[in-house]
Amino acid sequence: MFELSPDEKSKIKEAYSELIDGLAPKTKAADKELIRKAYLFAQKAHGTERRKSGEPYIVHPINVARIVSEEIGLGTKSIVAALLHDVVEDTEYSLEDIEKEFGTQVRQIIDGLTKIIGTFDRNSTLQASTFRKLLLTIADDVRVIMIKLADRLHNMRTLYALPQVKQIKIASETLYLYAPLAHRLGLYAIKTELENLSLKYKQPDIYEDLFNRITHSEKISAYFIQKFVEPIREKLTKEKFQYEIQSRPKSIYSVWRKMQVKKIPFEQVYDILAVRIIFKPKARIPEKTQCWFIYSLITDLYQVKPDRIRDWVSQPKANGYEALHATVMGPHGRWIEVQIRSQRMDEIAERGFAAHWKYKTGENQEGELDKWVKKVSEMVKSQDSNDLEFLEDFKLNLFDAEIVTFTPKGKEITIPQGATALDFAFDIHTQIGLKAIGAKVNLKLVPLSTILSPGDQVEILTSDIQTPHLEWLDFVKTAKAKSAIKSAFKDQRKAEIEKGQARLDEILKKLNYRLNTNVLRKLFSEFEITSKEDLYHLIGQREIQLETIKKILKKRSRSKRVKFWDLQLFNFKGDLKNQPDPRFELTVKPGETAPAIKLAKCCEPIPGDKIIGYRNPNTDEITIHKEDCPKINKLISSQANNIVQATWRSHKVMAYLAHLSMNGTDRIRLVNEITQVISKDLNVNIRSMVIETRDGIFEGNFDLYVHNTHDIEDLIEKLGKIKGIESVTRLENSEE
Ligand code: MN
Repeated sequence: MFELSPDEKSKIKEAYSELIDGLAPKTKAADKELIRKAYLFAQKAHGTERRKSGEPYIVHPINVARIVSEEIGLGTKSIVAALLHDVVEDTEYSLEDIEKEFGTQVRQIIDGLTKIIGTFDRNSTLQASTFRKLLLTIADDVRVIMIKLADRLHNMRTLYALPQVKQIKIASETLYLYAPLAHRLGLYAIKTELENLSLKYKQPDIYEDLFNRITHSEKISAYFIQKFVEPIREKLTKEKFQYEIQSRPKSIYSVWRKMQVKKIPFEQVYDILAVRIIFKPKARIPEKTQCWFIYSLITDLYQVKPDRIRDWVSQPKANGYEALHATVMGPHGRWIEVQIRSQRMDEIAERGFAAHWKYKTGENQEGELDKWVKKVSEMVKSQDSNDLEFLEDFKLNLFDAEIVTFTPKGKEITIPQGATALDFAFDIHTQIGLKAIGAKVNLKLVPLSTILSPGDQVEILTSDIQTPHLEWLDFVKTAKAKSAIKSAFKDQRKAEIEKGQARLDEILKKLNYRLNTNVLRKLFSEFEITSKEDLYHLIGQREIQLETIKKILKKRSRSKRVKFWDLQLFNFKGDLKNQPDPRFELTVKPGETAPAIKLAKCCEPIPGDKIIGYRNPNTDEITIHKEDCPKINKLISSQANNIVQATWRSHKVMAYLAHLSMNGTDRIRLVNEITQVISKDLNVNIRSMVIETRDGIFEGNFDLYVHNTHDIEDLIEKLGKIKGIESVTRLENSEE
């Protein structure tokens, strides 16, 4: 290696003094001394080493330390670690040497940084395992990941020195992983810069074009913004606020993203300009109140776009971001976004995590970021999937938009967008997830696969006999749920299930059966299980003979069918024509013959219902409708003269078709109990029943022959008392 030239040496000194000048004003002398020690140590260690650009290597750690100190706002230990971050990796010095000179904490940070192999400097490309290791360090010390981001940022800033192929690789990796990570840590400024730099190297032409356009439109907008802001300034001053108003164009990358996502040209990205109001909060008034007060001052002046209000004051983003955003219509009908923040909020927005710590008070013990870090560590540690799978899950979970949902007691649960009730269950506790059978979302019973919306109140219903199902993996979204379900399933069980499924398929094929709800119902109740998984598992475990299955399938079904056909024959037997119908009392004018009568299929009245008849003027046939049937009401208004009064007379023998729908949580023998109540206790015949269970939620539709409305009411009451039944309703027939 060439010796460093005097010119280079003075450049290094200059960089170092800039680092010292940029330190927080209250930095103690002892801390400055430690930083100096680290600088000298690193300089000695790197010696004459140079970067690809030809620069002395030490310039890089000094600049990383500056980012750590000035742009992220971390303290002395982090600055020391940043200065030393490439020492162990690149030089003769060991972790022990570091510990001896700088103590265990700095050693741990360097250790974390060194474990993350495959850095930019090592010429490596994106590796999922690298990223996983990176995340593992979050659990130990978040500072490690922040220093890593500073390292990446400086490498991106000096990316010009590398050949184009490498530029593109590194830029892609940055965009894929590091920018979202910075975002999640609330480091907005760094995130934006990483994104812009990535775009610059990945698509230089587009970058340059957008850069020019945005600069141009910024110039045009200057006057416009001034006009927009003037009345706001007047109001704020009148209210004695101390404030600052900034207007910054949207970042190049975010304009480009918007054009991509919305498939619109540059001209249609309307919110390129945002105005930011940063105020010094007045004493003794909550910052939130002051934000909304300023909001009201602005909306007194300008029309607000109601669907674009973002209240991150009441509910900070998961990364800790707080602000109140509103889009209002400025002069010339242009929409303009206004961001209202206190100084504290602004610092959090710019610097993220570190600022958060600074402002953290005793009462706000578990901040959003702490929760996030906890979640990351849980996730990383619990994963037993391979690295690539892990990476996918991680990206899904931690970079995605999140929504806030609530427990019945009002506790907030933050889950990724698109997550289901089951994810919610696992978020509360693994055991709740594994024992979940259903959920109530906003008091309504829903399957576990239901995708939750922001603000949903979710109650998870559990059962001790519940076991996890493999199908759950099809709809859970969070890594936490996925890994919990996966680990609940031992490989062995999986193999048995597969074996059982193959065996059952084979048996059914031989018997010429299809695996429909009917077949499943029989097998379920015979083996006292509730899911296909369990069925396959059982069959896979034991050797079940063809004969056994055959017996089960042939059982019972016959008798029910016979009952149904008997009943139907009985019900419609006899010629209704030319003889007065015994069921009805009709007002018939003198001289008229008793008409033929039939029950309307549209509303299917049963005894007890209030009814009305319609005489077909062509056939003289009378159709009986329910009084509130929409069809008859239409007829009443148009053909009042063909309307016949009718009431029920006798209903002792006859049976009428009614539809009942019920739902609840599925459990063993539930179907048996239902049919018991219907057919034995109440002596009502079942014409058909369709039962579907989905993710532990049972839904049944029954066609029943009842004698009258009392039967129905009785049934609804008795069925409603069965454990597990959530609701029973009579369905009105809406066909025809
Ligand atoms: Mn480095």
